[in-house]
Amino acid sequence: MISADEPSFRESVDLMFRRAARHLELGPGLEEKIRVCNSTYTVRFGVRLRGQIQTFTGYRSVHSEHMEPVKGGIRYALSVNQDEVEALAALMTYKCALVETPFGGSKGGLCIDPRDYDEHELEQITRRFAYELIKRDLINPAQNVPAPDMGTGEREMAWIADQYMRMNTTDINGKACVTGKPPHAGGIQGRVEATGRGLQYALQEFFRHPQDVARARLSGGLDGKRIVVQGLGNVGYHVAKFLSVEDGAKIVAVAERDGMVTNDRGLDIDALQAWMAGNKGSIRDFPGGTFSEESAAALELPCDILIPAAHEGVIHRGNAARIQAPLIIEAANGPITFGADEILRQMGCVIIPDLYANAGGVTVSYFEWVKNLSHIRFGRMQRRAEEARSRLMVEELERLSDDRHLGWTLSPDFKQKFLMGSDELALVRSGLDDTMRTAYQAMREVWYGTEGIEDLRMAAYVVSIGRVAKTYKSKGL
Ligand code: NAD
Repeated sequence: MISADEPSFRESVDLMFRRAARHLELGPGLEEKIRVCNSTYTVRFGVRLRGQIQTFTGYRSVHSEHMEPVKGGIRYALSVNQDEVEALAALMTYKCALVETPFGGSKGGLCIDPRDYDEHELEQITRRFAYELIKRDLINPAQNVPAPDMGTGEREMAWIADQYMRMNTTDINGKACVTGKPPHAGGIQGRVEATGRGLQYALQEFFRHPQDVARARLSGGLDGKRIVVQGLGNVGYHVAKFLSVEDGAKIVAVAERDGMVTNDRGLDIDALQAWMAGNKGSIRDFPGGTFSEESAAALELPCDILIPAAHEGVIHRGNAARIQAPLIIEAANGPITFGADEILRQMGCVIIPDLYANAGGVTVSYFEWVKNLSHIRFGRMQRRAEEARSRLMVEELERLSDDRHLGWTLSPDFKQKFLMGSDELALVRSGLDDTMRTAYQAMREVWYGTEGIEDLRMAAYVVSIGRVAKTYKSKGL
């Protein structure tokens, strides 16, 4: 993916870190301590499949333990390697600090193409990988809490949680050993959509600031904006759906592994996803758009917003100058290399960086972890009390209107919304929205208020590194 003449993914993250660290007076010792990855565990394990033993290679990298547990997803892909998990673990440290989730950074990966195995085989592989990590406390509710990433989802997280509980039968907090579980297995409402939802909230917040919108040579709000999305997986599907169905944006192109589909009037994202589900993940011949095999060319199409949501290194020195979008929001981790970032900034492109943009996943994972530790669903205690209070208010208003013959009537829509207490999903979305707004404002303050900070990525790193440094200092380092 990333060509040999460009820095690797981990080197790219390091270079971005160093560029920002120049603006903080950390001293070389502390700067180095924050930047380096604390440890990476490599495990090779065998699983008997189809009559013979197959050996798999997996990693769990811990970048920073300035807060514990450390947190970060587990990725299943053939491209997984040590450099990649270390880069992703570092991003997790900075991401958690930026959105104020009380975790250090970690990441894991297994070198495997999950499409090569059936469900039963994947369960055997996942349980064995989990076993190897659990016995070294690399999965543990107090020390290291994984979550889904590329190639994994609720199903794998449920297997991991079950494996941990089989090995730790008296740990009352066992379910908190992993997040992204299905709701029936200790998960939380709104986790599957969380990263896409967070991206939507991030864009909504960006468009609340006309000055920032103007810097991207755009105007107005999200309504009618033309968007290109790369990767219609968990993250890409949810963000594309929310922006088109709820915010009036048009998804004019979607790129997938086997090509791209375009439609100037806007693609029907649910129909496209259903098509993929029925055609082994292919978007070819989708009737709602025009297909082309040139998948990567989608990144270079004219549009208002580009959303790379597949994997790292897709915008590099070789294609950066051809990107036409004035605004890019990094849904994937590391989709823009260090070299491409420089080219795009010189072209005036505004980039909403990964460590902020895709932090919705870890934010809702934090809520899930808290839910597991408190052993109660959010909203369970207060929902009906909230409804009773609202009802009291509505009834009093109606009584006043009747007594004084004022003829007031509350519109049924208002009444229904006002009377509804917050359930878990509403609380999760509210907490996520608040997190994305607050983190954006923290970045923005640095973006506008610090001499020499010219872009949101550097602002995001400055906020994060400053927070990590404070934690280290208060630990006496
Ligand atoms: P996923 O596996 O659900 O989806 C990835 C999608 O990208 C798939 O549909 C795949 O077919 C497609 N794809 C792969 N290679 C492609 C290519 N070359 N061109 C176009 N499409 C391609 O993964 P995901 O969970 O949606 O993660 C995507 C990115 O978002 C990753 O970088 C991941 O680290 C990041 N991320 C995910 C989460 C999460 O909660 N899942 C959270 C934060 C960040």
